[in-house]
Amino acid sequence: MINFKDITESTSFYNFHTHTQFCDGHAPMEEFVTEAIAMGFRHLGFTPHGPISIESPCNMTRDNVNAYLSEINRLQEAYGSVITIYAGMEVDYVGGVEQNDPFMMQLPLDYRIGSVHFIPSFDDPQEYVDIDGRFERFKVKMSTYFHGDIEAVIRSYFSQYMDMLDKGGFDVAGHFDKIGLNASLYSEGIDDCEWYDQLVERAFASIMDHGYAVEVNTKSWHNYNRFFPHLKYFDMLKKYHATILVNSDAHYPSLINSGREEALQLLT
Ligand SMILES: [Zn+2]
Ligand SMILES: [Zn+2]
Repeated sequence: MINFKDITESTSFYNFHTHTQFCDGHAPMEEFVTEAIAMGFRHLGFTPHGPISIESPCNMTRDNVNAYLSEINRLQEAYGSVITIYAGMEVDYVGGVEQNDPFMMQLPLDYRIGSVHFIPSFDDPQEYVDIDGRFERFKVKMSTYFHGDIEAVIRSYFSQYMDMLDKGGFDVAGHFDKIGLNASLYSEGIDDCEWYDQLVERAFASIMDHGYAVEVNTKSWHNYNRFFPHLKYFDMLKKYHATILVNSDAHYPSLINSGREEALQLLT
């Protein structure tokens, strides 16, 4: 396992959350490496959305994992003297099966980010629905799968998240109040409610209890003025001396550093 604290304390030029041609990213891995080097980065971790048992166009398949790991090796050999490249994966929590699956556990990965992108449909708990995508799609799903009950969706998201933290199988707690963006676009101010804060605080306490590193995800800073977790929770992160990774969740090479400097400044 990587010593994230050593890295984050010695440099701000790192990114441990990167999506490429192996999932829903928009460029080959090598372009991210050359762009990162051009930006002066010292550490770059790749995190394709890992294989899952449900239908999902955003996730890589098991058949693709070897090709991904070979490409990591090739890039490490080609660029390893200038930048350290890590084989990571963003693993989904879909009712507990994925991240502790023997296939997933035996993969020679340097680290895993645990994230929740799916919650069960209210009518059919066996059916998992992606609630992480664009708001236009989220809005449609709110009526198709969740009876328009945004509070129940938020509670379900955090309940999945808490289960994921308990079950483990990963190292970094990914974008832990990400639902807040779509939820607040659907119902403005809902993420300012006291019960919302309590859900976030409880999740954070569990992250600390389990000893995970915690991600500050900067993907939506420029478009939506929002970090995950939200800026209002930064004091809480600082207070508990969490191991914090400031990641851009880049899907394009040009966005590797997007929002990171802003977050890093606000965290000091
Ligand atoms: Zn994610
Ligand atoms: Zn991601």
